[in-house]
Formats: sequence, structure tokens, C-alpha cells
Amino acid sequence: MRRDQFPEEIQPNLIPEPGGELVYRCLGCRGEHGIESLLYTCPDCGSVLLIHDRQFDRLKAIDGEHWQRILDYRRMLKIPALKGIYRYHEFIGPVIPLDSVIYLGEGHTPVVEANSLLQAKAGMRFFYKNDGQNPSASFKDRGMASALSYINYLIRQGLVDQVLSICASTGDTSAAAALYAAYLNPRIKSAVLLPHKKVTPQQLSQPLGSGADVFEIPGVFDDCMKVVEALSEQYNVALLNSKNAWRILVLRDSTILRIAGRVQGVPGES
Ligand SMILES: [Zn+2]
Repeated sequence: MRRDQFPEEIQPNLIPEPGGELVYRCLGCRGEHGIESLLYTCPDCGSVLLIHDRQFDRLKAIDGEHWQRILDYRRMLKIPALKGIYRYHEFIGPVIPLDSVIYLGEGHTPVVEANSLLQAKAGMRFFYKNDGQNPSASFKDRGMASALSYINYLIRQGLVDQVLSICASTGDTSAAAALYAAYLNPRIKSAVLLPHKKVTPQQLSQPLGSGADVFEIPGVFDDCMKVVEALSEQYNVALLNSKNAWRILVLRDSTILRIAGRVQGVPGES
């Protein structure tokens, strides 16, 4: 469908332009920090950081029903960057230009009704979101699409270069992190830390297949995490574990969008 074939009132917002003013806001001391550098915990108090749009209220100029129409029509576009989580550009990462978005087919997975036996046991009608159909076969791809699109944005802006993306994981996180980081090679090198002898060959195959360097660390997952945190505090490292604010952003905002009316009888799409 050509852009001029969309309803006139939809056209101004059909293809999002970069906007908003994103900052890291600390959950502890409420201090704010610029997003121009890689940051994972508050430099002042060490608490978790969340992404906050200082200009979020500008979106309220359009009512919820009209946003829903914009997002529904946006789905008909043949622009890859708007096919995944960035269909909700204004609510996810409004400062990120579409040419920085890494889209590998994540999101919008099928909603499948549970069988009658399970519904009888639960005492209610319910549905599964078949997130095994994401590119690395888990829901973590949405958050990784957000985290790596942001890093791509920093690289294109000349704010970082030669980043090492790293995560500690025994499964889905490492698979998703390595897969998305592979699309920014060679500007990004990817490493995964796993606890020694606690991972199956199947779990190893995904990060290795995406070209990540895999390191086995003596101990358990928490020991791997300590190494990742120490590296991220001292070097130019992109930490891709769940404390990454760009991953939290997608989980939080997709929930808000569903509550705000994307749900119509069955769980919403995101
Ligand atoms: Zn703080």
C-alpha cells in the first residue's frame, strides 16, 4: 500500500520521525543521566536505571483510539524497521532513527488458544503467546532488538566504536544476544560467559552459531554475572543481561500498551 493511499488523518504519523528526549532515570535516587554513553547502573547510588522520555506528554495530544488506528495502519507498511517492536516507535525508542533499527523478525508471534483440558483445569479460557517463533526462539529477542538498535544508534552517531557486547547466561539470553550482535559485526564483538560444565551442547550451539566467543567460568551463574558487571564498569562494554535499561523498556512498555487497549478479547500483539 502506497503512503498516499492511507487515510489523510493517519498520514502525518504513519512513518515516525526521531523525537522525544530520552534519559536514564535512576530507580533509587531519581537522578537522570544522558543516554549518549553505555550505562547500566546509577553512577551515584548503584541502583537500576530505567529509560524515561522527558517529552512523553507530547504523545497525549493524540488520543488512544487514534494511536490504535495509526499503529494498525503502520502494520501495512513494507518497511522492515516498523515490522517488529519499532512499530511502537514513539513508545519504545523515539530518538532512534529507523535506519538504526535492527529487525530480525521478532515480535507479533501467534496467540494460540489452550486446549480444553487445560482450560478446564484453569477454570477459565486462556491463550498462549507462541514466542518460540521468535528468531532465536525466545521472548528475549524483543529486548535484544531494543538494546542492539540503541547500540547501533550510538555507533552511527560516532559516540561509541568497537564495542564488546557481553552477557552471562545459560540459555535464551545468550542465544538472543549473540544473534542480534552478529548483525553489527565487525563494529561489535560478542562474548558469552557460561558456568563451567553446567551447560548442554544444545545451549552452547546458539551463541557459537552466531559467532560469539564463549567463555566457561568456574562456579555458577552468579559468578559469571560478577565478571560481566566488573567488565561493564571498567571497559567499553555493552552489558546485555536483564539489568540493561533498553531491555527493561520493551517489557515495561509492551505491558502498558496491552493494558491501554491493545487487548481485545485475546492477549495483544507485540
Ligand atoms: Zn541513583
